[in-house]
Amino acid sequence: MRNATVPVAVLGGGIAGAAACITLAAAGLRPLWIAPLGRGGDKPGEHLAPAAWPLLSKLGSSDLVARSYHRPAGITFSSWGSDHLAERHSMVHLEGPATVLNRMRFEADLADRALNLDVERISAPVAQVSRQDDVWHLQVGDTRLRTFFLLDATGRTAFVARSRASRFRADRLAALVGFLEQDPQAEVVPTRATLVEATASGWWYVTLLADDRLALNHYTDPDLIPFGSSKAQALLDRLSQETRYVGRWIDEAGFRFVTPIKATSAGTTWVAPAAGIGWAAIGDAAAAFDPLSSHGMTTALWTAIAGAEASVAALSGDLRPLAAYATKVATGVQEFLSSQREIYRREQRFLNEPFWKRRHSQHASNTLQDDT
Ligand SMILES: Cc1cc2nc3c(=O)[nH]c(=O)nc-3n(C[C@H](O)[C@H](O)[C@H](O)COP(=O)(O)OP(=O)(O)OC[C@H]3O[C@@H](n4cnc5c(N)ncnc54)[C@H](O)[C@@H]3O)c2cc1C
Repeated sequence: MRNATVPVAVLGGGIAGAAACITLAAAGLRPLWIAPLGRGGDKPGEHLAPAAWPLLSKLGSSDLVARSYHRPAGITFSSWGSDHLAERHSMVHLEGPATVLNRMRFEADLADRALNLDVERISAPVAQVSRQDDVWHLQVGDTRLRTFFLLDATGRTAFVARSRASRFRADRLAALVGFLEQDPQAEVVPTRATLVEATASGWWYVTLLADDRLALNHYTDPDLIPFGSSKAQALLDRLSQETRYVGRWIDEAGFRFVTPIKATSAGTTWVAPAAGIGWAAIGDAAAAFDPLSSHGMTTALWTAIAGAEASVAALSGDLRPLAAYATKVATGVQEFLSSQREIYRREQRFLNEPFWKRRHSQHASNTLQDDT
């Protein structure tokens, strides 16, 4: 591959990168997939919305979610805007129930689907990208590559898109993420319901995985974590002090933390435009949403398919699908911001708390911060 020239390169080894490679290969192109190997361990984000079904079907991959290490989602209980739990069943979705994924295995299976097609993979990060005379030049390890089209699927890094477009941020939401195991002596059979709970400092999400571990996410703003307190300590203190339901569930079912608690960015960011001459951003690189929507993976799939299809058209000289793609992403961002505003407004119990004050005022004025 040293000094090779390829028609299209896909950067990033997540869901968006894999879905784009499948789409390009199906269109008869031989994409180069620059996808560094992951660091192993768990990745947060397991709730796959029913809206993903038709997209997976388009990728010939809807069978992947039926595998035994995933499970259909059932009931969600939420304490949001009220001290009482509201119940919603996943069967209300016409497409079928949502799925609770084993995220790492889902990503690995989708990557295998791509690699079984005519896709070439380099398992190293892109170190440098430049554009001269309508051609992209990439440095990947000691390999130099040239390509005519770049699909940026590097997640929130937006490695290429951040220097080609303006980057915006609506908030600085962060997630404290833990995975728990049940004490083998515990006698409680854990519920398979998902629980969402709003509290003074943010909100909580907890769900049982198919392998019987519990995935726990606490969403808050980074500056609200007490100074001098570790992320793990902040999470444990808040579990016992703030939550009415989540802490009790964990205690009574005998769950305990077995891996370190990690912190990760989870705010709403996007680039505008999401595509330009010779490039398109897909997945979180184009638009990363507050996980309140549980639509990040679905967005990764649709932007990957639409972005890859637009790149095929662009390579044959038709730039209209690329422009239409950028418009569709921009519209999707505005729709998300307005539904997010509405959902946060439904919580009125903590209006004096900084986390909620920010969401009520910031979303009310719809002020966007340029993040460049
Ligand atoms: C805490 C949390 C909970 C979430 N929960 C849900 C949920 O329940 N449901 C849901 O649908 N979504 C959820 N999401 C969102 C979802 O995880 C993302 O939307 C999704 O992972 C986006 O996929 P992606 O492929 O665009 O990006 P990523 O999964 O971030 O993949 C990007 C890839 O690019 C690679 N990369 C980075 N830089 C370079 C480089 N220079 N060169 C080459 N490769 C590079 C990275 O190594 C990575 O493999 C959650 C997100 C968070 C943070």
